[in-house]
Amino acid sequence: MSERYPESVDVAIVGSGPTGAAYARILSERAPAATIAMFEVGPTVSNPPGAHVKNIADPAERAQAQVRSEGPLARDVTDHVGGIVKTTQRRARPGTFLLEEGFQVEGEDGLPVAAFSSNVGGMAAHWTGACPRPNDSERIGFLEDDGVFEDLLAEGDRLLGVTTDAFDSSPYAPLIRERLAAAADAGRDPHERVQRMPLAVHRRDDGRLVWSGSDVVMGDVTRDNPNFHLFDESLVTSVLVENGRAAGVLVSDRRTGESSEVRARFVVVAADALRTPQLLWASGIRPAALGRYLNDQAQIVFAVRIRDFTIDADAEGAGSTGLSEYSGVTWVPFTDEAPFHGQVMQLDASPIKLADDDPAAPGSIVGLGLFCAKDLQWQDRVEFSADATDAYGLPAMTIHYTLTDRDREVVERAKAEIVRLGTAIGEPLDDRPFQMPLGASLHYQGTTRMGPVDDGTSVCSRESEVWGTPGLFVAGNGVIPTATACNPTLTSVALAVSGARAIAAGLA
Ligand SMILES: Cc1cc2nc3c(=O)[nH]c(=O)nc-3n(C[C@H](O)[C@H](O)[C@H](O)COP(=O)(O)OP(=O)(O)OC[C@H]3O[C@@H](n4cnc5c(N)ncnc54)[C@H](O)[C@@H]3O)c2cc1C
Repeated sequence: MSERYPESVDVAIVGSGPTGAAYARILSERAPAATIAMFEVGPTVSNPPGAHVKNIADPAERAQAQVRSEGPLARDVTDHVGGIVKTTQRRARPGTFLLEEGFQVEGEDGLPVAAFSSNVGGMAAHWTGACPRPNDSERIGFLEDDGVFEDLLAEGDRLLGVTTDAFDSSPYAPLIRERLAAAADAGRDPHERVQRMPLAVHRRDDGRLVWSGSDVVMGDVTRDNPNFHLFDESLVTSVLVENGRAAGVLVSDRRTGESSEVRARFVVVAADALRTPQLLWASGIRPAALGRYLNDQAQIVFAVRIRDFTIDADAEGAGSTGLSEYSGVTWVPFTDEAPFHGQVMQLDASPIKLADDDPAAPGSIVGLGLFCAKDLQWQDRVEFSADATDAYGLPAMTIHYTLTDRDREVVERAKAEIVRLGTAIGEPLDDRPFQMPLGASLHYQGTTRMGPVDDGTSVCSRESEVWGTPGLFVAGNGVIPTATACNPTLTSVALAVSGARAIAAGLA
């Protein structure tokens, strides 16, 4: 029994990413007397805990924070070349790590570069912060009544600190928007037109950008809550169920190896869309749809040099925070007619070699990314082994994932569209767009999907409570039941707000 942990709490939260943080925040606001313990397997790598590592000014310190987030097999920072984990040929983005095995089964497409982060703040200590609203079929129809979904998304904006003006001084952003609008806006409703990307970022008074992580989601109200405690380096190995109801968690202290039982009235598992179903499966909680409808967004990228621009010699653009500030971030929304989500910016971790910026015109090269919505299939799934374990000792995963004919058709349409949009902005650097290896979007979702009724095709209710296990809530991109093409975090934080409100009501 580790002395670090309480014997019992009202709410145990597994995972400190933005969705676990959203539960902590809403509970701190609505049920301040409730005792809350948050367990995170990874270390604290930033200050305040959960802060985005891009806010760390010193490059060596930032690299150290990224390496420490790269899971149980993370190498020493000196073994970390250019932000690439050297364990396999496949590449992980800085701060993330890949599945060692089980990422692809012969004859299937697999998700070779689906990745995880293990640190306080989860992947949102490393993310790009794009927070677009879902549109058309991306939206969750059964939550639309009385504006419920819009209300939740607005709460998501509040918790994530979403803004649209942080890049308003970017010299090329208006030009890029104007050219994209001319190419894409015809026939679109106002909310679907080319616009500034909503981003979880704000500018400090001194002009520096601050990227939102779980620290922003938690806010002072959580940090100042004497009933809230965050335990890092704490692996939850099981959710306890008694008389059919969630009763607590089994936690392994990564510092000492000791295992402890922490009893709880409510348990929230917010451990990403692959490790949340893993923990439920390990706990013997196995609704039929658990791990199924796994979907990610095939990602197409293309780079162009902006045509006919005028250089503003005074423009400030050298992004010290990892993202060029010259071209801002522009959004081309998803529609059912054009089923791709477009993000146009200086890629901060480009998979393709961008030409070195012309010294006379820094920031004149922009990357375009189109993300495609997946055709949902029951058989696309993560499976868990009854005997083999992963590096944390939890059931090993095998990904079953195949693109359908429709998926391949959408990918081809996206390739044509990205060339069309790119040439509207400037001169292509390459003659063809590039399709990223599957999993690259880091937006894998659907594995603990929400549904209006328990009909075997969903794992949880519209409040995120797991069917058949009262008191157990799931959070994260796994809960999203639709195939989104847009970045999913705003949506999953919005869904977490609803679950947290339900727990707050249950505690009253
Ligand atoms: C480079 C990059 C760029 C991205 N850009 C965007 C973007 O622009 N927009 C967007 O919407 N999304 C983006 N994402 C994805 C985004 O970060 C995720 O959608 C978001 O972080 C998911 O939040 P979460 O709370 O569900 O899970 P996570 O942030 O993954 O957090 C889950 C946490 O649970 C912990 N955990 C797992 N298992 C256990 C266990 N058994 N016990 C204890 N702890 C456990 C993990 O260590 C992790 O810290 C990006 C991600 C990356 C890495």
